Amino acid sequence: MTSRFVAECLDCKFQAPYSPYQLACPQCGSQWREARYDYEKLGQTLPALLAHRPFNLWRYRELLPIDEYNPSLSLGEGGTPLIHAGNFGMMLGCPNIYIKDERQGPTNSFKDRQAAVGIAAMKEAGITEAVLASTGNVAIAYSAHAARAGIKLWAFLTSLVPSEKMREVALYGTQVVKVTSSYDQAKKFAAEFARQRNLYIEAGARTIPSVESMKTIAFEIAEQLTDILGPEKPYQNGGSKLPWRVPDWYFQSVSGGLGPLGVQKGFDELVKMGLSMHIPGIGVIQADGCSPMVAAWKKGQEIAEPILAPRTHITTLATGDPGRTYSLLYQRLKSSGKGLFESVSDEETFRTIHILAKMEGLSVEPAAAVAFAGLIRLVRTGKIKPTDVVVINCTGHTMPVEKLILGDNWARSVSLPSLAFADTPQEGLLAALNRVSVDRFPRIVIVDDMPDARRLIRRILQSQGNYSILEAGSGKEAIELAQRELPDLIILDLMMPEIDGFAVLDELKANPHTATIPVIVVTAKELSPEENERLRGQIHSLLQKGEFMSDEFIDEITSLIG
Ligand SMILES: [Zn+2]
Repeated sequence: MTSRFVAECLDCKFQAPYSPYQLACPQCGSQWREARYDYEKLGQTLPALLAHRPFNLWRYRELLPIDEYNPSLSLGEGGTPLIHAGNFGMMLGCPNIYIKDERQGPTNSFKDRQAAVGIAAMKEAGITEAVLASTGNVAIAYSAHAARAGIKLWAFLTSLVPSEKMREVALYGTQVVKVTSSYDQAKKFAAEFARQRNLYIEAGARTIPSVESMKTIAFEIAEQLTDILGPEKPYQNGGSKLPWRVPDWYFQSVSGGLGPLGVQKGFDELVKMGLSMHIPGIGVIQADGCSPMVAAWKKGQEIAEPILAPRTHITTLATGDPGRTYSLLYQRLKSSGKGLFESVSDEETFRTIHILAKMEGLSVEPAAAVAFAGLIRLVRTGKIKPTDVVVINCTGHTMPVEKLILGDNWARSVSLPSLAFADTPQEGLLAALNRVSVDRFPRIVIVDDMPDARRLIRRILQSQGNYSILEAGSGKEAIELAQRELPDLIILDLMMPEIDGFAVLDELKANPHTATIPVIVVTAKELSPEENERLRGQIHSLLQKGEFMSDEFIDEITSLIG
């Protein structure tokens, strides 16, 4: 027990020392409590302490519910990079998007933080056996940390959890109990098991170390953004790095809601300590087939109606009943004034997995991609402004890339007969290379005099499918390229010096070899009636610049060239 912080009841406000053994408020019996610290004092002392500590979760140990930091338990959790999503941002027209890459934790998800702090608190209290229910990632993170700490773990997993994940949980020595039911039922079952055996249970937002662990995401983001963009008011502090910069928005996909709840508390504590000036808006994104929070938020309701039968392929996010965690989020996001709840389809999510992989080099699991798909939707609807600084939690455990996402024909096969190959190495190798490099992909010519505009369209096309993309920087080049390559599609800018898009079109249509190639025209300006008349019947469609990300654009290309 420590006097550094107290557990405050969210219902009767009674403050008591914290002990993992005590699951409820000693005054009113409520299970909903939160840690409170001496923020004024910490605001004075923390910056100096941080200066000499490595960049990991434990650098904020004065704000975590443990007495003594025990480095031997750590697997290197926290301290994940904040990556600028330049290409993804360019596509959306938002240059300030950053990715908090929680995939780089010890078991590849932000749940590593929860497990690290949770297991450290248990170890400190002398707890040797614990129970949890999970949709997958919590069980894996806890299993790794429990194994290291020598704590026996029971994991109740619904039968929807992918078998790869279940096996990994078992690999760490955890007792796996498969429950054929919804996740909400599995949680109740696990709680009853723990109660009967008098075992410690990890209960998400009702478990103080769990909420506290998530704050470290907020602390890290503030320190990292300050390094990247500079402090919020650099000239008022004589060169010091304070106050820290926080984003305008923090986005996370959610199942139960623990992540955003803890992160919001972290940003709130930074303001209480005087280390930052405001609390960011929180963007909470769910999967369409299981979005009780989004439904309640949009109706202005403080209580979420449970979804009894979640319908989404993204099982990691299938918490049908967020319970009070949602109500707390509702209250806090309403009072801070900035919250957005949105849901996205599985299809949008799978499409976004492709975009992130091809544009940013990030392979993420569907549960993480949901947040990015939500951001795309909220940028399109104007809820997120182009100038906003946005940080997205990119989490997710590795997973087999399902057929659902990659489709067929994703690889080319070559077999090199070893004997023949050894006899005539040149010949065999050349024949094999020829087979590999035969280009099966549809060819698209992008015509624009601005290199950045060509690069943007190229990026977007590459993120959506397999295309061979050729570029022309002038009308003259475009005509030559079209005649030589006879592409499957031409994407044409109208306003170019010398030979403009109209003249290119005339030339293409006059030549029987190029006359039938479909053309999509892209323009930055409003066209006059005369100009519209010139295009009539000549082009497949007309797009305003900035509309590239619309589903219509992509669907049109797919329908034109497959
Ligand atoms: Zn109470």
